[in-house]
Amino acid sequence: MTSSSRQVKLKPGDTIGILGGGQLGRMLALAAARLGLRAQVFSPDPDSPAFDVVQSATCAEYADVEALELFATDVDVITYEFENVPAATAMILAARRPVLPDTKVLETTQDRLAEKNFVTRLGIATARYADVASVQDLKAALAEIGTPAVLKTRRFGYDGKGQAIIREGDDLEAAWADLGTKSAILEAFVPFEKEISVIAARSADGHVVCFDVTENEHSDHILKYSHAPARIPEALAAEARGIATRIAEALDYVGVLAVEMFALPGTGAALLVNEIAPRVHNSGHWTLDGASVSQFEQHIRAIAGWPLANPVRHGDVTMTNLIGDEIASYEQWLTVPGATVHLYGKGAARPGRKMGHVTEVKPTTPGPSGD
Ligand code: AMP
Repeated sequence: MTSSSRQVKLKPGDTIGILGGGQLGRMLALAAARLGLRAQVFSPDPDSPAFDVVQSATCAEYADVEALELFATDVDVITYEFENVPAATAMILAARRPVLPDTKVLETTQDRLAEKNFVTRLGIATARYADVASVQDLKAALAEIGTPAVLKTRRFGYDGKGQAIIREGDDLEAAWADLGTKSAILEAFVPFEKEISVIAARSADGHVVCFDVTENEHSDHILKYSHAPARIPEALAAEARGIATRIAEALDYVGVLAVEMFALPGTGAALLVNEIAPRVHNSGHWTLDGASVSQFEQHIRAIAGWPLANPVRHGDVTMTNLIGDEIASYEQWLTVPGATVHLYGKGAARPGRKMGHVTEVKPTTPGPSGD
């Protein structure tokens, strides 16, 4: 963390630079606007949904040094909506303006092996894993970890892309060739009972605030539903929040991060960390309508050097993603009592593309004792 990052203290009217123009950038920009802050979005894609909600945009490649320099001069602090910001881009920007979260965080979170090593060093459990750089390594790792196992690229994997399940008797040469990289990890397949995530915010002065733990349901590796609070015992939820807090502290993090975890079956359920996302996260979208302050506002507050909120949840919340051509159902959703519809303004509804989401908030059911 540079000393300049620690000293960020924006005032209304100041400008936040956002790298990335997807729906996360769009929702960050909207949250900034509500707090009287401006946002300038940098994205190479002229059809970026975030461009629609800001007055100032830079449409240029992430390797365009001149465009990056101009962007940096236009803004007061820079943040990002995706973890794969190229290292060179981050360096150019960080030399000119505070970048939050600090770009050091990207080195850990862009690489599944570095991330798992980092989590392990903190004494936090993950699935068993091994570094795999060749088909020989894969065979050795399988002998150690067993089947089924999950082979994942170390970099650029998301929504199940860049991963394959390896089962007993599979053709390993073919699985390795299909992955198309020499840089991978093998993980034990986790027979999880639930997938959960913690959205945590940390301020520059080290204060951490976690939202209630979220329970996530995936379909074809893509998040389909989130429920808040997660339907898990409070002790386990407290453990999950504790894990996210330790990770945020160890990264000297400023902003919002998401930690995805597997909850194992059984009464003494244990948690394994699957992934850290150094950004606002799809599993935190419920906070837009289901809590007094959203993950987007919490992130803006953190990077602006403003106090974090202590969010109050409005009830039991379900978030449903509208994926691909499910977006065609938006008119039906608009008529559902209590549903809040978010459409991202994207063009083609390609399969697997996140096009919007819906939040439904139900007032919390009182327990048997009425408390
Ligand atoms: P990831 O890209 O690592 O977030 O994985 C995407 C999804 O694949 C997860 O949300 C899980 O549903 C599933 N998955 C990933 N890793 C494992 C694992 N080691 N065992 C079981 N399921 C996994």
